[in-house]
Amino acid sequence: MTTYTIALLEGDGIGPEVSAASVQVLRALKGRFDLTFDIRKTPAGDRCRAERGEALPDSSVSAIKDSDACLKAPVGDTAADVIVRLRQLLNLYANIRPSRALQHVPSLKPGIDFVIVRENTECLYKGMEFEFEGGVIALRTITRSASTRIAEYAFQLAEQRLKTREVLAVHKSNVLRKSDGLFAECCREVSAKHPGIAFSEMLVDSAAMNLIRIPERFDVIVTTNMYGDILSDEAAQTVGGLGLAPSANIGETFAIFEPVHGAAPDIAGRGLANPVAIILTTCMMLEWLSKTRDDRNCAEAAEAVRTAVNGVLESGIKTVDLGGNASTAEVGDAVAKRVSR
Ligand code: ATP
Repeated sequence: MTTYTIALLEGDGIGPEVSAASVQVLRALKGRFDLTFDIRKTPAGDRCRAERGEALPDSSVSAIKDSDACLKAPVGDTAADVIVRLRQLLNLYANIRPSRALQHVPSLKPGIDFVIVRENTECLYKGMEFEFEGGVIALRTITRSASTRIAEYAFQLAEQRLKTREVLAVHKSNVLRKSDGLFAECCREVSAKHPGIAFSEMLVDSAAMNLIRIPERFDVIVTTNMYGDILSDEAAQTVGGLGLAPSANIGETFAIFEPVHGAAPDIAGRGLANPVAIILTTCMMLEWLSKTRDDRNCAEAAEAVRTAVNGVLESGIKTVDLGGNASTAEVGDAVAKRVSR
């Protein structure tokens, strides 16, 4: 029996509801896969700030560092103090956001299967905003090293994918000539080292349009931090919405897994949130554990969870965002039951 320690950030808003579903699913794996998870609830976010005066205490950072992986539900107003800080602190430079059509959920077009590889440590998210009389200046950082590193990640990912093996760099270098110019240049340099992978470029406004017009044509999209943040919400909508969209923050030796969606205060505490996004996020965590720990069991467990999710959606147990009437807990229960069968 292998045990993995998971630091769980329950988050705010719908965070505690959806993370409970993931915990249930992880526990259900025990019976079938000889896998157990030592799930350690780790305080962070708005509630933590209200109770302890800080959104991300040092003790929580230590608990995260001591775990095998971190599963994070969304936090509310303190997102910048929690996840943006953790990404920089732990150097989780690659934010991976896949959009793949699910069998039993209507999508914008057939055959959608692409992934956004978002640079995760710089751009406008360094938090460098300065007030001056009459306005504010926000500094945007783009470095050669971070751009090259994320481009390399995207090309390596494209090598492993079964689709068209194509990387598209998204930027706005016609206007942001120096910063996005450097990002584009780094992507071109990396593309030259991967002759087997097709490479093209697209301006971010055009990408926003084409994600709706021809989403089935995309394969791997590499982009800077803020464009990736915005485009990935749009991308989620092409395959059924934020309630289904998983993501991973990956570094050299550690990773944090979180759904794309936020704390959604408009639906919090009512059992309306779709837990599938965080359950599919949990699959990404299992796949990462499988790869980094060379543990086939985790890959098989991830596959079993994906199959269970498809089965549950096929059976019509869906939350309101997908046109169903099941609650968050009912969907979580149904997936966990199928996993343990
Ligand atoms: P953030 O900037 O923190 O990512 P956001 O502004 O993108 O947050 P969300 O909190 O993600 O906003 O919510 C956007 C909309 O999507 C809301 O109307 C919310 O109800 C809906 N939504 C988000 N997550 C889910 C979910 N898991 N299930 C159902 N609806 C959701």
